[in-house]
Amino acid sequence: MSENLAKARAAARADQPAPTWRLIITDSESPTGLAPVCTGERSDALHMIDDYPGGPQRDEDGVYDCCPWPQIETYSTVWAAYLVELLNADAGEEASAQAPTATPDFFQPGHTYTEPDGTTDWRFRCDSITTHPETGERTALGWRHFRGEWSEYAYGEDNFEIHQIADAISQEGGAR
Ligand SMILES: [Zn+2]
Repeated sequence: MSENLAKARAAARADQPAPTWRLIITDSESPTGLAPVCTGERSDALHMIDDYPGGPQRDEDGVYDCCPWPQIETYSTVWAAYLVELLNADAGEEASAQAPTATPDFFQPGHTYTEPDGTTDWRFRCDSITTHPETGERTALGWRHFRGEWSEYAYGEDNFEIHQIADAISQEGGAR
């Protein structure tokens, strides 16, 4: 993704958190505009066409006082449709991209950590996490391998950050 897109998106999100977009009909008969889906308080009442032939029907494309901005008129059905799809797809991609990239901020049980550059035989198999009864600070309990021997070991939050900064830890797939 381009840097400019990321910046523009972040600015828009600050203005309004990821709305879902819809096609709207403003001054013509055709859906040539777009706007965020209406979630206004009076949306249900205002969007209802009571005398619609065959019974009351919700006006999905209409624009009323309750409808959020920005409302964008493109004067083109294809461009309006394209922009709606683009904006909704972008919000979806953003949501799915965020979840897997969330990096753990501490050792994870079931993982063994190593030094990827192989300068030492250091390894740490994290078995569980325990927290300080008062401060809640985490301690990782497990086994450390160093100089050819395994021994029981505990690492605190400071230890993990040091390794993170040095980029000295790689994660071997563990049981999930
Ligand atoms: Zn509305």
